[in-house]
Amino acid sequence: MIPSYSIQSFEEKFLSKQKASLEDTTIIEIAKQVINDIRENGDKALSKYVEQFDNYVPIDFEVSNKEREQAWDEVDPDTITSLKLAADNIRDFHKQQLSSSRFMNVGEEVVSGQLFRPIERVGIYVPGGTACYPSSVLMNAIPAVLAGVEEVIMVTPARNGENIAPILSVAADIAGVSKILKIGGIQAIAALAYGTETISNVDKIVGPGNAYVAAAKSLVYGDVGIDMIAGPSEVAIIADQTANPIYIAADLIAQAEHDENARAFLFSTSDQLIKETKMELERQCSNLPRREIAEKALKNKSSCVLVSDITQAFELSNRLAPEHLEVQVESPLNYLGKVKNAGSVFLGNYTPEALGDYFAGPNHVLPTSGTARFSSGLSVDDFIKKTTFLYYSQQALDDAAQHVVNIATEEQLEGHARAVQKRLNK
Ligand code: NAD
Repeated sequence: MIPSYSIQSFEEKFLSKQKASLEDTTIIEIAKQVINDIRENGDKALSKYVEQFDNYVPIDFEVSNKEREQAWDEVDPDTITSLKLAADNIRDFHKQQLSSSRFMNVGEEVVSGQLFRPIERVGIYVPGGTACYPSSVLMNAIPAVLAGVEEVIMVTPARNGENIAPILSVAADIAGVSKILKIGGIQAIAALAYGTETISNVDKIVGPGNAYVAAAKSLVYGDVGIDMIAGPSEVAIIADQTANPIYIAADLIAQAEHDENARAFLFSTSDQLIKETKMELERQCSNLPRREIAEKALKNKSSCVLVSDITQAFELSNRLAPEHLEVQVESPLNYLGKVKNAGSVFLGNYTPEALGDYFAGPNHVLPTSGTARFSSGLSVDDFIKKTTFLYYSQQALDDAAQHVVNIATEEQLEGHARAVQKRLNK
């Protein structure tokens, strides 16, 4: 089911056409219209689109405190324990990313540094169209809360007027979400970006979603911050002859079951391993609940490539810049230095991506479609602004003045030069 490609055909099909931008102009047009309407007509327009796209007439957008309390009784206690442990791991990992305001130069004449300040209000989008993702609640909200964001507002669609899944509400409580709104899609992004009579606007919106959500995020960018435009999820696995085809097939399938456009790649030095992995894929897909989706993704969007050595595998992977990279080779930690571009790396036979998706600590909101060449996964930094500050004494300005004037004169900005000269000790 998964095709094999030569290095050349892999380059042509997958490396020359990487594109993170949105191509569906129809979706962009719908998103523009919905956003403009909500911007002009507030709650009335928001209700209209919730009814149109999610099939219910909202009475109240916010999940009440009572509903949030009740949700705890509706979730299996073992699952709550697992979510709490995952949250602890995610919190511990992201705590290490915290840094504080700092002085960089503290002299009598010159003081400079950086102020670190949290973004005040953040919206997190938790997808809910076809599945339910409590892990996305934890991954998006925990770094925001750690950064010191005052208000974390979560949006997620409630389909057909039903309440949101109780587990999402429980995850929101565990992560420290301030408010949950039962809205999704373009209309949720518009409400967060511009506010309505009942919803206050936020400063930044983060979190994954489908093509409608991605289009809306791209359109509101500038008026609010966004984390990234997420494309289909992807994994690349680098494996040598010591790897286990059963594990590799399982991890390729775990990626492929996300959606039909998900991409899963195997770069291996062993022809035998590729053959065995293909057989294993057939076997494991046969009883997979999401078999149809996984098989389409494996057949149409994925491939195996036989490489001459591990160095060549890393060269391909670095050019692909995959969202997830698994390294299933002998002594995997020795190869960390070869990674140049990847969202997150999973080393060894016992570190499946699923461990990181849910539990281990690193964030699962990661750059896709080759954007790991220039960007990183979600972290505490996404919720912090860094403001520089500077103090010069009159003496320090006197010392620097001629250099500033020289550069200002070269740039023909006489006003700049005078702003310094007026202050000089005569
Ligand atoms: P979603 O919440 O992103 O989208 C559902 C909303 O889309 C609906 O509420 C509706 O308002 C809107 N919508 C649907 N059809 C529409 C139409 N024809 N016109 C206008 N609006 C429409 O949920 P989803 O659809 O299940 O998609 C979730 C996506 O998020 C998947 O692609 C999944 O792979 C991805 N995801 C990514 C991560 C990650 O960390 N990268 C995690 C979880 C999910």
